[in-house]
Amino acid sequence: MEPDRSTPEEGGSAEPRAASAEGTSSSGRKPCPRCGKSCGGYCSDCVVVLDPAAPQGLRLPLRLHILQHGETNARSTALHAALMAPADVQLHRHAGSTTSRRCDPLALQLPEWDPASTAVLFPEGPDTPAVGDPACPPFQQLVVLESNWRKARGLLRHPRLAGLPRVQLPREVCSTEFEWRRGDGSFRGAVDEGLSSIEAIVHACRLLGSAGESYDSLLYFFRQQQAYVKKRGALPTSRQEARARQKKPRAARGQQERAAADGGGAAAPL
Ligand SMILES: [Zn+2]
Repeated sequence: MEPDRSTPEEGGSAEPRAASAEGTSSSGRKPCPRCGKSCGGYCSDCVVVLDPAAPQGLRLPLRLHILQHGETNARSTALHAALMAPADVQLHRHAGSTTSRRCDPLALQLPEWDPASTAVLFPEGPDTPAVGDPACPPFQQLVVLESNWRKARGLLRHPRLAGLPRVQLPREVCSTEFEWRRGDGSFRGAVDEGLSSIEAIVHACRLLGSAGESYDSLLYFFRQQQAYVKKRGALPTSRQEARARQKKPRAARGQQERAAADGGGAAAPL
């Protein structure tokens, strides 16, 4: 595991950025029926699917709790599970914020979970039990931290998480299949080595679900991001963008920010 390389000032990532699936849908952009924001496949703020081709009503072999802390809604890939399998996924966000970068992790409102039935997907060390291993404690609910490495450590101090057992994915599945995430060394979601949160969720479902169930449909929006990156190339890192902003005249900067506010901005998936 390596530390997140983002800086506190930027609050961002040093990895190449890919467009959010909000803006990559082949079905075109349309306004969110709830907030009016122009989106592609879904609205990450309202958790509404806008792409009619997206899988809906998927079921998972366990109940998922996604804790979003330290990143924007648009960067979350665990959110994809909440969009496509809402009956089995509960999303926990900081109240009234689309970007939780500056929120106190202990302020995140969480229910009280039973440690006998709930585990946190977090690799604390080599001794953390692996999902699917006979030595792994049984659980029916899994808490997934949608956060970078540094912020996840802060979130784990939350009193509602302190007493829950930790589990991790087997090492052999902890490698992303998407090239833009490979080798960046940053922590994304529950597992290191660039594995995105939605990939971690799919792997956990495969390990815990019935034989023959693939759960690949959960990767629908993520594969759109992959296709977008292959077509357009990865965008600059957060640090590179921050440096470019410092050099740009104020007027040009304002124009760019207005374009991003219109939904034209891109964000990296988690
Ligand atoms: Zn919306």
